[in-house]
Order: sequence, then C-alpha cells, then structure tokens
Amino acid sequence: MSISDIQYQQQAIDIFQQALAHERLSHAYILAGPRGVGKSSTAMEFAKILLCDNPIEKNNIIDSCGVCSSCKLVDAQTHPDLHPVYKELITLIPGKKEHKAIDLGIDVIRTALIEKVALKPYLKKGKVFIVYQADRMTRAAQNAILKTLEEPPARTYLFLITEQVSTLLPTIRSRAQTLKFELLPQKFVYDKLIENGTDDKQAEFLSKFAPGQLGTVLELLRLDAYDINRRIADELAHIRAADVDDFAQWLINEAKLLASRLAEIQSEQFEAKSSESELNRTALKLMLTMVSAFYRDAIRYKLDFDKDTLINSEYMEFVEWLAERYNLDELGLKIKLIGESQDRINANVNQNLLITDVLYRII
Ligand SMILES: [Zn+2]
Repeated sequence: MSISDIQYQQQAIDIFQQALAHERLSHAYILAGPRGVGKSSTAMEFAKILLCDNPIEKNNIIDSCGVCSSCKLVDAQTHPDLHPVYKELITLIPGKKEHKAIDLGIDVIRTALIEKVALKPYLKKGKVFIVYQADRMTRAAQNAILKTLEEPPARTYLFLITEQVSTLLPTIRSRAQTLKFELLPQKFVYDKLIENGTDDKQAEFLSKFAPGQLGTVLELLRLDAYDINRRIADELAHIRAADVDDFAQWLINEAKLLASRLAEIQSEQFEAKSSESELNRTALKLMLTMVSAFYRDAIRYKLDFDKDTLINSEYMEFVEWLAERYNLDELGLKIKLIGESQDRINANVNQNLLITDVLYRII
C-alpha cells in the first residue's frame, strides 16, 4: 500500500503534501471524519513517508519508497519509531491488566506517548505517534498531550484520529492542523467489493448498510454480516410473540461469536485487545442496527424512495408487509426504541432482559 492507494480524500492528502513539499509540517495533525473512510490507513501512509529513508516524488506526490528497511518495518508494524497509542494499551501496563479501557486515560498517554517523546529516535528520521480514538481521551490525557504540543522535539509527529473533533480541547485543536475526511462514494465502495470477489447481492447490501465507509464494509464482510442479516430477515418475517425469547437468545449467542471474530480482526493490528464485554456490546449493537434497518426501509418505502436505495431491497416482501402494517409514527417509534436499547447496552444491564424487552415492544 502507498499514499496513492488512498482515494477520495484529496483535500486531506493535499494539505499534508503541500506542507511536506515546503518543509512546513505541523507537529500534530487531527484526522477527522466518519468511521471507515481511510483515516487510519492515511495516518499509516503519512508515517511511512516521514520515516522512509528515500522518499520518492512521482506526479508531484511525495511517497514512501516501499522498499527500504524503514518502510518494511512500518508495513510489518514493528518500526521502533512508530508508536500506536490507543485506549486498550492500559491492559499492558503492569497491574492494570483487568482495566476496562473505556477511556483513553492519562496512564496510557504518559507511558505510550509522553515518555517516548522524550527519548531519542532509534533510527534517524524521527518519531511518529498515531493516537486512535483520540476523542476518547480524558481531559487529563488531553492536557498532558497539550504540553507535548507546546514544545515538541524536532521531527516528532502526532496524528490524532477521531470521528468527533469537537470533543478535543480547543487548545489542542488550535495547535494542530485538522485534516477532514469525507464519506466515500457508495459506487466506489460497491466496486471495491466486486473487485474483491464479493458477489453482487452481498456487495449491494454491505455498501448500503455502511454507506461510504469502505473500512467498515470490509470489516462487515469478514464478520459475515450479510449472512447474519439474512437470518435476521428470516426470523423477523416469521416471528410470533411466542418466539421472541428464542430470537433474543439467538441474537445474544450470535453476538458472542461476532465478538470473537472482532477480537481476531483487532489482534491483527493491535497488540492489546478490547475487553470481551466491550466487543460483545459492539456486536450486539451491530445486530440491533440490522434489525432497525428493516423498519428504516419500511419508512423509505412508504415515502416512495427508489427501491434500489433500500438496504434490504432483497427482502422486499417483508419490507412491504411492514410498510402496510404500520404507520410512519409506529415505525419511527420502533426505531427509537431500538436506538434506546442500544444506548442502554453500555450500562451494566442484563442483556437478555433488555433484548427480550425491546423485541416484545417492536414485534
Ligand atoms: Zn522507504
């Protein structure tokens, strides 16, 4: 992979490239935008360029050479001067193994960033820190980073990745350059899936379920989200009140399987893992979003949207049935109830009760 493989984020890439060409790089960049649109990949490519022994220039773009030892170390995720910073690192700090890692706290920022900023780079080119989910930084963590941003050592670069730039302190935002990332065209995401060998129906569903978010879509592909959705469609279309308990139990069991697949995917990129319960909640929320999509489609159907824009256009009979059976208010209420149950999964609630309850209310 190289910087030229990142598509449709030209504005963000141009700002960085201009600064690079004129040797006016900022010490900190905020890569802001929706999930799954290429922020992490771009940060990784920027890091690769900054650490490369022999950057090359092609078509007015400065790129990493891809073949020097530094580039190879970045690709292997073992470069000693490239430091990923993320909330789960807390579990690698002695005595904190059981920590739930809900926020990106001061302990992680201190050990993974501040202490390492102070050290000399191992290789000659400098040091790069990529802070994932920067919006999850606590106030104390942000204030600690601020000190680094006030007096950064030469050739030290921070990339803060976030979906919500507004949660960063204004003082951090003013010391960093913000690079905005946008949703990708849906057709581009669809074409990428087809290029990957995904069949048409699956590509269509995934590219509509997470519109414009290639990274998310590729993850959903690995999670077999399409098959899970088919199962949900089948269950929902035939469910009677007496089946609700079984369906709730199935959702919860399936979420556990999904969570273990999420853990596998995560472990390919990161050394420290999210807690089982966090992955479980993520998986269950995803499945509820799939349930919700049928009611959203029914609303779109009632409002005469083009059939092709419906996420579940493959299950038109069921969507039409929902649209005939319920009015707009009723459908809206069901979506709201599902959304509320997703919010409540975060609290320490009994999942079984929560899911059974919401299913009874919507069915
Ligand atoms: Zn190189």
